[in-house]
Amino acid sequence: EKLGLNQLRERYLKFFEGKGHLRLPSFPLVPQNDPSLLLINSGMAPLKPYFTGEQHPPRKRITTCQKCIRTPDIENVGKTSRHGTFFEMLGNFSFGDYFKKEAIPWAWEFVTQDLQMPLDKLWITIYQDDEEAFEIWNKDVGVPAEKIVRMGKADNFWEHGTGPCGPCSEIYFDRGPEAGCGSPDCKVGCDCDRYVEFWNNVFTQFNRDEEGNYTRLASPNIDTGMGLERLACIMQGVDNLFEVDTVKNILMHICKTAGVEYKKSEKEDISIRVITDHIRSTTMMVCDGVIPSNEGRGYVLRRLLRRAARHGKLLGIKKPFLHDVAMVVINESKQAYPELEEKAEYIRKVIGIEEEKFDITIDQGLTILNDFIAQAKSGGIDKIEGGIVFKLHDTYGFPLDLTREIAFENGLEVDEEGFKNEMSIQKQKARDALKTKGAAAWGDNIYSKLDKSITTEFVGYRQSECHARIE
Ligand code: ATP
Ligand code: MG
Ligand code: MG
Ligand code: MG
Repeated sequence: EKLGLNQLRERYLKFFEGKGHLRLPSFPLVPQNDPSLLLINSGMAPLKPYFTGEQHPPRKRITTCQKCIRTPDIENVGKTSRHGTFFEMLGNFSFGDYFKKEAIPWAWEFVTQDLQMPLDKLWITIYQDDEEAFEIWNKDVGVPAEKIVRMGKADNFWEHGTGPCGPCSEIYFDRGPEAGCGSPDCKVGCDCDRYVEFWNNVFTQFNRDEEGNYTRLASPNIDTGMGLERLACIMQGVDNLFEVDTVKNILMHICKTAGVEYKKSEKEDISIRVITDHIRSTTMMVCDGVIPSNEGRGYVLRRLLRRAARHGKLLGIKKPFLHDVAMVVINESKQAYPELEEKAEYIRKVIGIEEEKFDITIDQGLTILNDFIAQAKSGGIDKIEGGIVFKLHDTYGFPLDLTREIAFENGLEVDEEGFKNEMSIQKQKARDALKTKGAAAWGDNIYSKLDKSITTEFVGYRQSECHARIE
């Protein structure tokens, strides 16, 4: 029998508890005391104060399964087999305690003994100059030299400006030639879906100073990250991370709502996978206290929800449906994230309101856009006018990237300069209006009623959940 996603998460955390790690619950997606980051994008991100020494960790060995959002990966979603804007990252961390000599053999033990992955499918990458890692993989663990691939700084060196940094080593799984691009040059590191990177082990051993000098840290750290969905995809032998057990249940629900069958048409499948991904990320974001708005993380949420709504239209779904699908997400993940169940009603409401709001204007907006596209095509125009893009944004609630996506599907671009111009004209008008009319000029915020009844209060590191609730 195949291990489910929820079982795999538990297997990993238990394994590292067995190696002396303290298990902490996932931190919220909204960073606490970290203005440099919009949303948590790795297991390491919320633990940064422990790495820099600003704070003392409750134990020198910690293991977590962290909720992550990576919106820069949005273009890949539904197209590659391995990217989501939301995913869960398993991680084991050492704060000045164990290092490569332990981390590498443990990773191998988990993958090859605990999970019994076939040895011949596994590949290792290391940073080109990391002889220490090579020796451990080759001599201690017994991986043949030809399966240890050396990579450059771009791929296998983790560094973020100044501060702690270091080489990393990744584990890849070969899904076979059928899964790949078929190019004779296809090898580990190829962008196609054959060799799937699933576990990154970062060896934070240097400090980088202002001048770019690297000095060895007295007590180096370990920071690892393994995508839970990717692991499940490999272990369950499915095509992509949307076909992993719990995620597939969400996908099937969407198919049922739309009355379409999965794997009948590639175009529909992309829409199905986009919705599946975006409803996961948005459900998790709302649960952690993000509310749709026109800026910051609220806008990230809005863009994802509206993109999902539009792909729903493409599948022929006529009425708001995302708030229902959110309930499936909650059901599949509540075991690991009990806060989802506690806030189910609240999540349903927030997503429902946003959907209803967009539902009023989306059809009109699409009609205007499609008319313009038809005209442009017959008139030899290759750009959507800034004025139209702005009107879609301002009157019909189309985020710029949504208009861009639709334009792109039709072989057109959008006039971004023109759009930005219109935006700044509008901002100036709003500023002028504010001067003459006062705060009332800001108009009605659809969430204001809801806002007042929600208390969003973060209670810090020890407790993973935020208390957003409807009284
Ligand atoms: P890729 O090269 O595939 O985009 P990455 O090198 O950006 O991945 P890391 O920053 O090394 O990823 O993150 C550690 C692990 O998290 C990856 O090895 C992978 O298993 C998982 N991961 C990263 N991005 C995603 C994503 N968008 N969706 C699902 N899992 C992901
Ligand atoms: Mg990436
Ligand atoms: Mg990578
Ligand atoms: Mg990586």
